[in-house]
Amino acid sequence: MNKYDVAIIGGGIAGLTAAAYVAQAGISVVVVEKGNLLGGRAQTVHKNGVLFNLGGHALYRGGAGEKILKELKVNVAGGIPDTKGYALWNGELLNLPDSLASLFKTKLLTWSGKMELGKIMMKLRKLDTAKIPPISLRDWAENNLKDPMVRHVFYALCRTSTYCINPDQQLASAVIQQVQLGMKGVLYIDGGWESIVEKLRIKAVGAGAIILTNKKVASVGYENEHQLQFTDGEMMEVPTVLLTCGPDQSCNLIKNAEGTMLDKWKQQAQPIYASCLDVALKNLPNPNHHFAIGIDQHILFSNHSRASKLGEDGSKVLQLIKYLGTEKETKTEANKQELESIMDLMQPGWRKELIAQQFLPHMVVVQDCITIHDKQYFGPSVPEIPGLYIAGDGTGHGEMLVDAAFASAKRAAETIIQHNGFQTFSREA
Ligand SMILES: Cc1cc2nc3c(=O)[nH]c(=O)nc-3n(C[C@H](O)[C@H](O)[C@H](O)COP(=O)(O)OP(=O)(O)OC[C@H]3O[C@@H](n4cnc5c(N)ncnc54)[C@H](O)[C@@H]3O)c2cc1C
Repeated sequence: MNKYDVAIIGGGIAGLTAAAYVAQAGISVVVVEKGNLLGGRAQTVHKNGVLFNLGGHALYRGGAGEKILKELKVNVAGGIPDTKGYALWNGELLNLPDSLASLFKTKLLTWSGKMELGKIMMKLRKLDTAKIPPISLRDWAENNLKDPMVRHVFYALCRTSTYCINPDQQLASAVIQQVQLGMKGVLYIDGGWESIVEKLRIKAVGAGAIILTNKKVASVGYENEHQLQFTDGEMMEVPTVLLTCGPDQSCNLIKNAEGTMLDKWKQQAQPIYASCLDVALKNLPNPNHHFAIGIDQHILFSNHSRASKLGEDGSKVLQLIKYLGTEKETKTEANKQELESIMDLMQPGWRKELIAQQFLPHMVVVQDCITIHDKQYFGPSVPEIPGLYIAGDGTGHGEMLVDAAFASAKRAAETIIQHNGFQTFSREA
């Protein structure tokens, strides 16, 4: 095989972002992706003329991802959805208090609860999260919120922003930082997230990166250089390897990972899961029902077509998520029924309008979430093995979700470029 300076394992957002930066620095780089498509969890599925992301995806405005895309001059089009909608409580749809008007209108809260929620929302916007002690989200909420229903609404907001459902474990400062980001709004992407993937691919290839799909790495050994063994029998020797495939797979691939930082990373990481039901409808049976957040159920419903182009002929793409937290075993049928019952509530008669649907029972949303027990951030270098680096959404240094994938990819690329004696890129993002 050809000789490269750097091999990146995984052609998702992290792998492609790192490839773009490394190639722009003049270093020869190859991306190897086991699937026949690039994008990993940021892929988009085409079904009957409509586009489904792998579950509802939103890019946080002002987050690391948006900044890095801007720095790489990758323009993505899309729209900012409003959050006017419903709170799902006790099987009923009540006004979601997302504005002053809906706060006064909603039957979700008592008068004093409305006042308290109004005040806490103002406080959250300005809160300096660096000054929050390292306590759990639960402790922060118990100390700062009196009304139990205000706490329920607050937890629902935190859930929607982070995909995590464990306030006893989550680090309050990190969650609130993500909530603050969410308050700036999110972007639903025209053409689905594959348009981000495709533009990153073009950027990386344009800078000289080589991308190989259907190329699965079976193992990586190290002796002076890294030896990549592929499942098709081929081998590649390369001085530098960047892994973007998460802690479990990284430990499986790397020979002698035991006792290294990769091992500690695997032990600390807590992957977060979700069950997703995505449907495309010809028409909305209830054209006013676009958005709902579960208050006593771990649910999010959103009509993505209200802000982004995901189909021809005015079809509507609705994405429903059930947050599963760290639940490794999924109750597939029960979760599907729960999601369908929310669809029945939001869009009664939706089955008659159905163009396409997709049910993803148990997706890894993110490879790690930030908890009070975390001892350290991981990456980009793996100190025990020369020339080995990690990136991906399990290696955030405070960033969450895809922002962690983007930011860690940039950190890894920067370190690789420095270690190769090349000049690093600007630090704007
Ligand atoms: C349901 C759902 C909803 C989400 N919603 C949001 C959201 O609203 N906002 C947000 O910011 N983020 C969201 N995310 C998270 C976001 O999709 C991920 O953070 C991001 O796509 C992760 O990118 P990555 O490159 O780190 O990992 P991946 O996308 O997992 O890429 C890793 C790649 O490595 C490849 N690979 C693995 N092993 C090998 C091997 N042995 N050889 C070769 N290749 C290999 C895989 O095939 C994969 O393509 C969501 C995710 C899900 C699943």
